[in-house]
Amino acid sequence: MRWHDAHNHLQDPRLGDAPATRLAQALSAGVAGMVVNGTCETDWPTVLHLAERFAEVIPAFGLHPWRVPTRSACWLETLEGFLDRCPGAGVGEVGLDGWILDQSAERCLELGIGPSGPAPMPMQVEALDAQLDLAATRGLPVSLHCLRAWGPLLDRLRNRAPLPRGFLLHSYGGSRELVPELVRLGAHFSLSGHSLHPRKADQLAVFRAIPRDRWLVETDAPDQLPPPEWISHPANGPGGRPVNSPANLPRIAIGLATHLGVPAADLAALCEANWRRFFGRPASGT
Ligand SMILES: [Zn+2]
Repeated sequence: MRWHDAHNHLQDPRLGDAPATRLAQALSAGVAGMVVNGTCETDWPTVLHLAERFAEVIPAFGLHPWRVPTRSACWLETLEGFLDRCPGAGVGEVGLDGWILDQSAERCLELGIGPSGPAPMPMQVEALDAQLDLAATRGLPVSLHCLRAWGPLLDRLRNRAPLPRGFLLHSYGGSRELVPELVRLGAHFSLSGHSLHPRKADQLAVFRAIPRDRWLVETDAPDQLPPPEWISHPANGPGGRPVNSPANLPRIAIGLATHLGVPAADLAALCEANWRRFFGRPASGT
């Protein structure tokens, strides 16, 4: 079986300073491709470098909602420059986050938010709109982050020209009721290993209600650690804190297949077909 990681951050320094080693580990574990998502101006060059070195990497460039306060005056032009250099890239990780607005100053600092705190929702919306416009104009797929901001996100998606390539709701945590409209608007949905925690059983039930031609799987490495029994490649980041590795994807996906009641080989084939169609990557190695 070959698996495709629809969303990770291989460039994240928490995964160490040898991303090539992490990538090789993932490939030998059965990962055939991955979308590596940038989050801010300072990590876009590393994402570009990884995509130039490794054919298995599809890059995505975007300003993450948590990183909006760090943007420079010319961030959008810089983003366009990266997209110009990588015609096969996606736009991501972008989105809206209402959860972060309720976190304490200490928690925000722990999460790498600067001393000025998270961007208020109107500022997040402005950054998202600009990036959705780029994706629409250039016909690029979008990787979206949405946490406790479903109302504002739906408002943005409903009140704009359709995104020609659609969008991926990574680590989908929305309700079942939202699924039909999101599908109509062009959504794909990916599940991470975080959904394997027993407290996330409801999320798996929601996922079963999503049309299968919209299913994808992801690690979101170095985040979204699965429960220990679904970790094949334990790894530690700074301070000895456990981190998720892209090489965990095959084990995570087998866990997801078990919980979804789908044979693992069927899930791998389905996600590969969806991956190729959504990210526009032609068949390879067959
Ligand atoms: Zn992410």
